[in-house]
Amino acid sequence: MQPLTFPKLISYKIKKDKPLIVCDADEVIFDFMYSFEKYLHTKSLYFNWKSYALEGNILNKKNEALNKSQITNIINNFFMHETESMSLVEGAANSLKILSKQNSIIILSNIPFKFYEKRRIALKKCGINFPFFANTGPKGKAVKYLSDIHKGKIWFIDDSPYQIKSVKLEEKNINTILFVGNSKLEALIKSKNKYCDHFSNKWEDNIKTILN
Ligand SMILES: [Mg+2]
Repeated sequence: MQPLTFPKLISYKIKKDKPLIVCDADEVIFDFMYSFEKYLHTKSLYFNWKSYALEGNILNKKNEALNKSQITNIINNFFMHETESMSLVEGAANSLKILSKQNSIIILSNIPFKFYEKRRIALKKCGINFPFFANTGPKGKAVKYLSDIHKGKIWFIDDSPYQIKSVKLEEKNINTILFVGNSKLEALIKSKNKYCDHFSNKWEDNIKTILN
C-alpha cells in the first residue's frame, strides 16, 4: 500500500546512485516555534514550554489551555496566514545546497495537504528546490517505501522523537538525525532521544555527520 502523502511518492523518480536525505520542514528548515509563538501573541495566546506537545501548552489570558479542536483551528489559521513568511532555521538553506552535491534530497513535511502549495512557494522563495511531499501521521511508512525502492544509504532528519521512532521501527538501517535548532525545544526533547543515531542542534553538525 502507498503511504498517505501528497503528491503520491510513486511520482518521485529516485536516483539510486546517490545517498538519499529525507528532510523534515518544520523546526528543521522553517523556524516553526519562533513564528508560531509570535503568531500566538497576536491572538493574545502564549506558549507555555512545559512539554514537547502543542496540547496543554497553548494558553489564553486566563491561563486556560486550548482544547484539541481549538488547537487544530489555530494551527490551520497559522499555516493559512504564515506559511509563506516563516523564517528559516539558521544554516538550513545553505547546508541543503552543500549536501545536494553528493546526495539526493527530498522534503517530507507533515503540513496539512491544503497548505501544500503555500509551503512549496515558501521553499522556492528560499531557494530550496527539492522534491517536496506532504505527509500525514507517522512518517515511518513513507520513509520505508523510499528505502525499499532506493535500496542504498538513507538519512532521515526530523526534530520529532516520535517521527524518528516511527522510522526506526519500520527500518532500522535508516540513518536518523534528531535535529533541534530551537534551544527551548531542545530542552524538552533531550530525554527522548533513545531511538536516534545522532543528535544535533546545528546544521553544520548535520553536514559533518552526513559527509563523513
Ligand atoms: Mg518538524
